[in-house]
Amino acid sequence: NSKKKLSLTSRIIIGMVAGIIVGSILRYGIGEAQWVDEYLTNGLFHIIGQIFITSLKMLVVPLVFVSLVVGTCSLSDPSKLGRLGGKAVGMYLITTAIAISLAIAAAMFVKPGEGVERQADTTYSAAEAPSLVDVVIGLFPDNPIQAMAEGNMLQVIVFALLFGIAVALVGESGQRIKSFFEDINEVIMKLVVILMNLAPYGVFALMAKLFVETGLETIGNLAKYFVLVLVVLFVHALVTYPILLRLLARVSPMMFLRKMRDAQIFGFTTASSNATLPITLETVTKRMGVSNSVGSFTVPLGATINMDGTAIMQGVATVFIAQVYGLDLTVADYLMVILTATLASVGTAGVPGVGLIMLAMVLQQVGLPVEGIGLIIGVDRLLDMTRTAVNITGDSMVSMVVARSEGDLDEDVFNDKDAGKKLE
Ligand code: ASP
Repeated sequence: NSKKKLSLTSRIIIGMVAGIIVGSILRYGIGEAQWVDEYLTNGLFHIIGQIFITSLKMLVVPLVFVSLVVGTCSLSDPSKLGRLGGKAVGMYLITTAIAISLAIAAAMFVKPGEGVERQADTTYSAAEAPSLVDVVIGLFPDNPIQAMAEGNMLQVIVFALLFGIAVALVGESGQRIKSFFEDINEVIMKLVVILMNLAPYGVFALMAKLFVETGLETIGNLAKYFVLVLVVLFVHALVTYPILLRLLARVSPMMFLRKMRDAQIFGFTTASSNATLPITLETVTKRMGVSNSVGSFTVPLGATINMDGTAIMQGVATVFIAQVYGLDLTVADYLMVILTATLASVGTAGVPGVGLIMLAMVLQQVGLPVEGIGLIIGVDRLLDMTRTAVNITGDSMVSMVVARSEGDLDEDVFNDKDAGKKLE
């Protein structure tokens, strides 16, 4: 074969860009033609895009359960689990707090809400914030099958950990179960790889549909808000993370970002940390050299409790809404915002649009009008996509740091440009 095969990353990027172009051409070049709507937007693009997302989600529960059981029962020392968990949760909370503080500071400086009109007809009903007690009790499944059926990640994680510990404790039959799970794990990882190879088409369809349906003209007078969220997201991903990686994981941030690219595009196009989980896990373990016992724990945990990108949106949005409504927030209010947003991220799953629900909790907490969300909802999709890419980058960064501190990082794999490529 004389034709050089394009790398998967290039093909996914081509799919994404082609989708954006085709979608924009259909929107602006052809207008609101009925056939576009019927056969493409709600036809072909919709079908391919949905099948793509659904098949990703299909893998999440089996993957998390199986890989976490394998990871846990391979731990040489089960007491390591507590330490691992402590470090991961600590890092996740701290990075989220940094993210939202950065966002609030930037928004106070730039003042995106100045001069923005309040629309009279905006409505948004708030969700209740889960209390900390409920979150803690809710970690434990009363029925693991139900937890899996509902895709309740934290419960699945807890069950898998307990199951894995027990497997490690039962000796000979434990060994059999362990190798059985290792085999299934390999099969599921293979499925992930197969799916990744189909991703360019899925990504194309998702982007094409999105860009037929949403024009950039909706951004209008929200441009300042929109751009500010984007800028802070980029600063967090391209400055905060590299600094932490250098200092705490002592690895090259450039290599890290380069290897993140596929997963970031998955995050961007699906707007769901959960749906991207299989790819994030593959990236972290196969391409970056994080051991399976660390990665299979920190990555699913991060997909659920770590949302730095979402916190950034919330920080900017809170300041923005306060400015539009002409309300002043005190320093104590801002601290409350940081605390609520950080804790709310623990109890909510990484699925599209959940950031707005968390924002409602935050606004309520400091007495800002929840209807303010109506102002920003129109431009939220693109921001949702971008912040999801940041969320999963954060999950991976923390996984690297934790793995390094536990001596569970294979630097040869990390530094090998092509690590994991042969899997394609
Ligand atoms: N879509 C985001 C995620 O899955 C959550 C959000 O910000 O709405 O990580």
